[in-house]
Amino acid sequence: MKSKYQILIIGGGTAGIMTAAQFRELDKSLEIAIIEPAKIHYYQPAWTLVGAGTYDYDKTGKPMGEVIPPGVTWIKDKAIAFEPEENTVNTDSNGKITYDYLVVAPGLTYDFSLVPGLGDAIDKGVVCSNYTNPNHTWDVIKNFKGGTALFTQPTTPIKCGGAPQKIMYLGEHHFRKSGVKKKTDIVFATAGTVIFGVKEIAKILMNVVDRKDINVRFGYQLKKVDGKNRIAWYKFADHEKEHNHKDVKTEKDGELTGIHFDMLHTAPPSVAPKFIQDSPLVNQDKWLDVNHHSMQHNTFKNIFGLGDVAALPTAKTGAAIRKQVPVVVENILHLINKESAENKSYQGYSSCPLVTDYGKMVLAEFDYDNNFTPDPKLKQMFISDSSKEHWRLWMLKKYGLPYLYWNKMLTGKDV
Ligand SMILES: Cc1cc2nc3c(=O)[nH]c(=O)nc-3n(C[C@H](O)[C@H](O)[C@H](O)COP(=O)(O)OP(=O)(O)OC[C@H]3O[C@@H](n4cnc5c(N)ncnc54)[C@H](O)[C@@H]3O)c2cc1C
Repeated sequence: MKSKYQILIIGGGTAGIMTAAQFRELDKSLEIAIIEPAKIHYYQPAWTLVGAGTYDYDKTGKPMGEVIPPGVTWIKDKAIAFEPEENTVNTDSNGKITYDYLVVAPGLTYDFSLVPGLGDAIDKGVVCSNYTNPNHTWDVIKNFKGGTALFTQPTTPIKCGGAPQKIMYLGEHHFRKSGVKKKTDIVFATAGTVIFGVKEIAKILMNVVDRKDINVRFGYQLKKVDGKNRIAWYKFADHEKEHNHKDVKTEKDGELTGIHFDMLHTAPPSVAPKFIQDSPLVNQDKWLDVNHHSMQHNTFKNIFGLGDVAALPTAKTGAAIRKQVPVVVENILHLINKESAENKSYQGYSSCPLVTDYGKMVLAEFDYDNNFTPDPKLKQMFISDSSKEHWRLWMLKKYGLPYLYWNKMLTGKDV
């Protein structure tokens, strides 16, 4: 291991590996290192299917050494601080490492202090999360005996904003098959104003919740969770309203309203990792402060950031990263060639594969303005309208996308 690299990448997740792989595809002479402490790299999008008992968790991970591109140095360590004026990153056990160009991609982390009680309750008993232990989610869904099944999410940004709904739709399907649906009320409580930001998709999803007889509660801001007494406490936003009311047990405590549950699924409150929040690289909301179109840091021009850590006003997904990576790579190659970082072409593309039943899916693809922007390549799969539920889209989610991820995206191939 050396103490200086031409390109230093923090994080060997989706963003870090894809970036390194695309650099290597374009120029094998670049000197690249990735700082990454984890031994396993996970394909997290499949955790939705694991939580529904239709995908093997062990198949969602591969040893990190197998996904780090050949020729790229793996520094098995944690980045702990930045000295951007010195082009230096401090690490936990390897001291200072300097760089010409830095790519910051350590993803996000969970801060359970933002919802007191949740940290103690999660992954135990009837409280589950596909984000932290999808095998436990499947245990909870499989063993559910009826009552109130509450699906919810925090007020912070989260990975894949649609994931808390996807598991609800699959859970409902399972409850129908197992016969517990008759004695079950399903509630989806979200702080949002709509079920999904893209009009075309929201329309279909409201049909899905009607078909599945789900009670949707808008303007519900999750404040705390009482795991022992099985109550989730909410503060109402001004836009609080209900769709398809169910008379589930609730109670009041001052300005908070509690919903009693017999099972709870939620995404955890999510923030940028602490070493990012404490660094000079963040905006006022403590996410990595990069240009929304070029991913170049707004202050330090030889630093780029992408993926979940970046302050980009679009959904945090691997699909978004697929479109961010080529822009970052091209801009850094321009800078190496003494040109400017002129590629400002990222328009906020992100996508959310919303599974609505075992065997059905809607594919939301959109930009910063929430315009529906379906990939023309879907026509090759005989899908003429991806805003409609389709079995071919389910096949894409279960088989096609994992294959493309491991074999194309992570190896720097264009998909
Ligand atoms: C349940 C669930 C469902 C999802 N569904 C979808 C979906 O259907 N479609 C989709 O596109 N996306 C989906 N996503 C989101 C997608 O997985 C993430 O957006 C994506 O993995 C983010 O990539 P990243 O590289 O930014 O972060 P990650 O992939 O999380 O990787 C971050 C890496 O940085 C490392 N790291 C952390 N701290 C440090 C440090 N101090 N120093 C060095 N390295 C560090 C970590 O160990 C990790 O390997 C889903 C996610 C979840 C959890």
